[in-house]
Amino acid sequence: TDACLSAIDKADVLNAFVHKTPEIAREQAAAADARIKAGDAPSLCGIPLGIKDLFCTKGVASQAASAILEGFKPEYESTVTSQLFDAGAVMLGKLNMDEFAMGSSNETSTYGNVINPWRRGNDDAALTPGGSSGGSASAVAADLCLGATGTDTGGSIRQPAAFTGTTGIKPTYGRCSRWGIVAFASSLDQAGPMAKDVRDAAIMLQAMCGHDPKDSTSADLAVPDFEAMLTGDIKGKTIGIPREYHMDGMPAEIDALWAEGRKMLQDAGAKLVDISLPHTKYALPAYYVIAPAEASSNLARYDGVRFGHRASLGQGDGITEMYEKTRAEGFGEEVKRRVMVGTYVLSAGFYDAYYNRARKVRTLIKKDFEDVFAQGVDAILTPATPSAAFGLGEMTEADPVQMYLNDVFTVTVNLAGLPGISVPAGVDKQGLPLGLQLIGRPWEEGDLLNCAYALE
Ligand code: GLN
Repeated sequence: TDACLSAIDKADVLNAFVHKTPEIAREQAAAADARIKAGDAPSLCGIPLGIKDLFCTKGVASQAASAILEGFKPEYESTVTSQLFDAGAVMLGKLNMDEFAMGSSNETSTYGNVINPWRRGNDDAALTPGGSSGGSASAVAADLCLGATGTDTGGSIRQPAAFTGTTGIKPTYGRCSRWGIVAFASSLDQAGPMAKDVRDAAIMLQAMCGHDPKDSTSADLAVPDFEAMLTGDIKGKTIGIPREYHMDGMPAEIDALWAEGRKMLQDAGAKLVDISLPHTKYALPAYYVIAPAEASSNLARYDGVRFGHRASLGQGDGITEMYEKTRAEGFGEEVKRRVMVGTYVLSAGFYDAYYNRARKVRTLIKKDFEDVFAQGVDAILTPATPSAAFGLGEMTEADPVQMYLNDVFTVTVNLAGLPGISVPAGVDKQGLPLGLQLIGRPWEEGDLLNCAYALE
């Protein structure tokens, strides 16, 4: 814990930690020492972690990297973080992210962007760590903590993991409780670990999972021992290679990485099959209707009354002006864009044309996966991202849709509620890390982690 705290202080330039909690960390570490001495050490006893700012942590600023939550210190602890602390984990502080988890580059944060510790060859230009869990990814990659929590609504664990050479898993929807995690798009959001390797991710995930009566979508299912399932034996497993993920204009390096991943799995005894997920091309548009729709509803609660920031009012201003000014000041541009898109697609005149249609597409996407799993496919291998980490400002200068295209390989998994993992699988010609994604059957995170283990 001390080593991490001092590494964090030396790495302010990365802007990964937005609130440091050294007192809490030292207290938890001392308690962990006492448990170890007493011979009662749980799985994460004394392990120092970073916590994404989207998680409510009792008495500690939890702002979802938004100015509208300025000064908000929850009275309660999220289920996932409290389970991690019960398992002995130590909290080093809160990690930067895109505002309300909306973004793919950590550039929408009220705290400013995060920097990726990796560089392109000898080029000094700063790169994004991806988003929205950019602080988590950068902190793990730069050895500021041994693991971090992330959340993934459309790729926010897997894409930053791929950009930083770390491992991140989004479990099946319902595996981790969403209670106490600031909501973005409630039917898509899931928490998960970001770690140095598959084993660490398995150990962390174990502590994060489980039924929680406080989240009605949380599954009442036993959680298997994920670490015990890491045998590396994938003989006889069937791995699907979806033809729709061969995108036009995809960099040759990504194609080569994918081929290498296929070979590794085959050499380990898996059988590869070509599969089709025919509705893949509609996933991004459907996601960028459904996620903003849910966000516009979830973000209605930031009204200047219940949480955080309230604008100062002029003479004659009433409650409507208070709402308007508070929200105009408190939300950043990307969040406003999503609220506007979401409100539009849910409006009486456009609901059927956009929202309802997107929901139908979502059902078809889910069915695509169900069909291939019914044909005996155990897991699906794809690239995690269409490129390696990009430069700061490189995507924000273009139109916002350019940024959305980053999520092309990840959003299908959230729409279908499936588990997905990104593992580091090589580097591009400038030495930047690249990730491969494995998508698993629902509730089979153990098998998925084991397939990923075979890729390491
Ligand atoms: N990049 C996607 C978005 O901006 C996904 C974000 C996420 O998974 N939280 O919506």
